[in-house]
Amino acid sequence: MPVVAGVDLGATAINYTLVDQQEQFLIGDLCEHPALTGEGPGVCLRQIAEGLEIAAKRAGVFPPDIVAVGLDTPGPASAAGQLSAQGSTNFQHPQWAGFDIREGLARMLEKPVSYLNDGNAAALWGHYTIFGANSRETSVSIIIGTGLGAGIIFDGSVVKGKNGFGGELGHVLIPYPRIAGTSGMQPECNCGRTGDLESVCSLTAIEKTLLPYLLPRYPGHDLEKLDRHQAAKLVRDLADNGDPMCREIFRIQAHALGLFFDQVVNAFDPDALVVGGGALETSQKFQNWFLEQVRLAMPPQRPEQAGIPIYVMPNGDTAGARGAAIEALKAARQGGLI
Ligand SMILES: [Zn+2]
Repeated sequence: MPVVAGVDLGATAINYTLVDQQEQFLIGDLCEHPALTGEGPGVCLRQIAEGLEIAAKRAGVFPPDIVAVGLDTPGPASAAGQLSAQGSTNFQHPQWAGFDIREGLARMLEKPVSYLNDGNAAALWGHYTIFGANSRETSVSIIIGTGLGAGIIFDGSVVKGKNGFGGELGHVLIPYPRIAGTSGMQPECNCGRTGDLESVCSLTAIEKTLLPYLLPRYPGHDLEKLDRHQAAKLVRDLADNGDPMCREIFRIQAHALGLFFDQVVNAFDPDALVVGGGALETSQKFQNWFLEQVRLAMPPQRPEQAGIPIYVMPNGDTAGARGAAIEALKAARQGGLI
């Protein structure tokens, strides 16, 4: 029985999945191995090939039945899967610079390989969970993690862009001074912009901007004593448990997202908006509160657009591998392989 694989290659871990013609995922949860990205492309690609065999056995699949593979990695990379000449942000080995990882893996496996960056792969997974693999709908997904990953699925297809930077929504500027309670805040992003979505809405933003801005306003707060990096990681759970300052941090992030989603609604008139990532691995009650805050920050919509739904993306950890698998499944169907 022909199947398609999804491989999510991160800096420290590789995650695999397999999907069949009926769009059933054959691996329930994480099938993860440590990634050897630090040892360069040769070692890393061999490791992917070996891990794929292990994943196939675990799912009861005969490895030659894998007819196509979808790969996703952190960018920057071209739409066709060539890593940037400056190297991928998270892969610490000089040979990754300018390396065509899609072609490299296709050669190693002797199978067709399709490529997405990790934000676009997660966005495709978010889209798929709502609309399936054969949709013609449009959705925009935001994944709030260390940075802010994102992707646009337009008319059912991933917007990759001419240079592979389509859907890099974290670096779109937002009118952040409109967010109440942020007077004098200067949110700076690693990309050099001040006031883009990632500069307010990410774990990095909590560490670099939101904690330094809010801690002096909450004297004696427990997080004051901790190293900023450690403190930032505790904010989500504290917010979920009702801590007022941490709630305020998430309110500001939700309002930033609301201002951004308003731009998206005007740009695309989408069928759905999706939010995922570590920031929303919380109680459902907190998720609902966060989405309410997102809506509160959006200027009034036209009556026709007021009902555009906002979803929370399921299965955050497997989103990249599953999105990559869906992209490969679509390509395999178009190529008559499945
Ligand atoms: Zn930025």
